[in-house]
Amino acid sequence: MSAVVKLSHVNKSFGPLQVLRDVSFEVNRGEVVAVIGQSGSGKSTALRCMNALETIQGGEIEVCGHKVHSDKLDRRALRRDVGIVFQSYNLFPHLTVEQNIMLAPTCVKKLPKGEARDIAHRCLSDVGLAEKAGSYPEQLSGGQQQRVAIARSLAMQPKVMLFDEVTSALDPQLTGEVLKVIEDLARNGMTMILVTHEMAFARKVANTVIYMNQGVVWETGPAALLDDPQTPELRGFVGTGL
Ligand code: ADP
Ligand code: MG
Repeated sequence: MSAVVKLSHVNKSFGPLQVLRDVSFEVNRGEVVAVIGQSGSGKSTALRCMNALETIQGGEIEVCGHKVHSDKLDRRALRRDVGIVFQSYNLFPHLTVEQNIMLAPTCVKKLPKGEARDIAHRCLSDVGLAEKAGSYPEQLSGGQQQRVAIARSLAMQPKVMLFDEVTSALDPQLTGEVLKVIEDLARNGMTMILVTHEMAFARKVANTVIYMNQGVVWETGPAALLDDPQTPELRGFVGTGL
């Protein structure tokens, strides 16, 4: 059983608006999947459903062995296994970088402070910010704050990481440093789902690309798909680069 994430025939609606339509795909251990598509095509909703931040109206989602929409779901256990990073970093401004990262390991995992601090330092060095442990978020650039947010997720030692347009709020010169961190994670075998607008990055890092259109998995295949779209919709999307 190598599928870490499995969506089967997922349907999701907000009231009368159907946002995900019969969505099915699997992500295997160590695989990097890029999810692309126009704004409003359901990409963020799909990620949120995987982490039980949304309910679904049909189908099944299994993540790291957790049946995400079963009544018996252990949310804490799910969220220990799944890291999620959003466009906004949501760091606590009154806590240092180190304290931000130690929060979940001490409060959720109940690790002793010393151990949590060691993990925080290791994760900070993984994102190239070892020297910023004592800084406050406002003393960091947007790119550095986003790298701290990634380190904070990594500190929970997740089995899969979900990234939702984590570079969209950043200036182009800060985007590269965040993408490099994600690339390093990919190289180290982290299972990841990346919702991204960065086509060149998707082509370089992703094993698999999923193109969503109107809530449907419209096209999926290896990253080379981006060079050879099979549908006019994906051709148009890649053409505009949006
Ligand atoms: P994407 O991430 O691809 O831009 P989203 O998953 O955010 O798309 O949104 C898909 C659709 O669902 C959009 O039409 C959006 O307006 C709608 N939507 C998202 N979240 C909610 C919500 N909480 N309530 C109602 N509609 C929502
Ligand atoms: Mg989105």
